[in-house]
Amino acid sequence: MQAEEYNRRGKELVDYITQYLGSIRERRVIPDVKPGYMKELLPDTAPTEPEDWETIFQDIEKVIMPGVVHWQSPHMHAYYPSLTSWPSMLGDMLADAINCVGFTWASSPACTELEMNVMDWLCKALGLPSFFLHHHPDSRGGGILQSTVSESTLVALLAARKDKFLQLQAELDQDVDNSALNSRLVAYASDQAHSSVEKAGLISLVKIRFLPTDEQLSLKGDTLKQAIQEDRRRGLVPFMLCATLGTTGVCAFDNLSELGPVCAEEGLWLHVDAAYAGSAYFCPELRWSLEGIELAHSFVFNPSKWMMVHFDCTAFWVKDKYKLQQTFTVDPVYLRHENSQAAMDFMHWQIPLSRRFRSLKLWFVMRSFGLKNLQAHIRHGGNALTQELLRRLTRSGTMYLIPADIHTKRIIRFTVTSQFTTAEDILKDWSIISKMASTLLYQQLFMCFILSTCFKYMLSCFTFLLNFHMFNSILQDYVIHAYNG
Ligand SMILES: *Cc1c(COP(=O)(O)O)cnc(C)c1O
Repeated sequence: MQAEEYNRRGKELVDYITQYLGSIRERRVIPDVKPGYMKELLPDTAPTEPEDWETIFQDIEKVIMPGVVHWQSPHMHAYYPSLTSWPSMLGDMLADAINCVGFTWASSPACTELEMNVMDWLCKALGLPSFFLHHHPDSRGGGILQSTVSESTLVALLAARKDKFLQLQAELDQDVDNSALNSRLVAYASDQAHSSVEKAGLISLVKIRFLPTDEQLSLKGDTLKQAIQEDRRRGLVPFMLCATLGTTGVCAFDNLSELGPVCAEEGLWLHVDAAYAGSAYFCPELRWSLEGIELAHSFVFNPSKWMMVHFDCTAFWVKDKYKLQQTFTVDPVYLRHENSQAAMDFMHWQIPLSRRFRSLKLWFVMRSFGLKNLQAHIRHGGNALTQELLRRLTRSGTMYLIPADIHTKRIIRFTVTSQFTTAEDILKDWSIISKMASTLLYQQLFMCFILSTCFKYMLSCFTFLLNFHMFNSILQDYVIHAYNG
């Protein structure tokens, strides 16, 4: 293919992509194929003679699409969101063309510098602490784009381990055998943590203890404290906690404000996995679960999930970049450059050497949407469902409620206005509200149901049933308290 044909075919492919995404709701979301289906559709060996693009292009619908799960379909409710957007795709189109390999600053200065600046934008937009900023007078930290959360959690674990080794060596004032020390290390996570935490333990040969959570599936400070004390008595060396904000299972939140102080007292590295829910922190009203983040050593989330920057794009921040660099620095002469001292070389922050120009798509998305529309994207959903619930309740004629708006959030007001109202009346009304809401949620298969007392649970839209039950009992308490009080 020559440049002229690329230019023409490229435009055709963009047409195809626009058409594909524009009509995706009409496609069957899961393919109807059996393992090995493709073998029959393809020759056994690669063609010896070149094929023309027309033939290759036609095979997209014949060979590929029949075996695709359409992750962008509105009927996709499995796993987690893996969103994309037009500016994001344009970003990778350009990155693919530049195709630089930005391991050091010198290998492509724009690649490193855009990443540093955009990671600072993102840090500020999410309300994360300023010690995660590259450009800040008091900061020793910074952010980097990694390929996945799994890799970032491993990176955090390796940095925490290196830090603990150095600390123990300094305390003992002698060289110690790190592999012997390794067998005494123990890290913690909740029993709801993602499997990538377990995998980081498998790779590093470090014990991970998965601690029990409370009835909200949240890890509490006391539970951690007790586990640390037990393990110290057994001669182990606790060195890290991986807290989760927004678990994969039910989007539960570990209690960061309790866990942070325990980690600080006990000398543990606090790593925070907010892979899926992290995008929610664009909205200040959803930052309640970030309380305690000031004590974190590292934080990771996936813009590739909810933020519409398509895979791969994982934002990872550390408080102390030197702790990463002391873990990963290798210094072969062929990678040295005259700015080695002054400039940022991201190869020392990650496991691979090579790195893609991922920040372009993040930059395009943040600029094209603006923070305002990214917030609107996160908030989207709740109001429509709340409005629909209100419409159904009003139509049923069993009770009379009216809506109110708190900033941009639609709520349903429930006030007690008659002197004849009893607690039983309220519970009867609540049971109707809750039944109708359940029906609505079943129908929508999507929860963003909001009342003023419970928007904490809004994030849990992918696990609506479990959370709806939690919400139900909380609101019931609230109704009774409101009535008694
Ligand atoms: C999705 C998810 C992960 C895994 O993310 P990868 O980027 O695929 O490694 C880890 N933790 C949580 C909480 C997740 O939701």
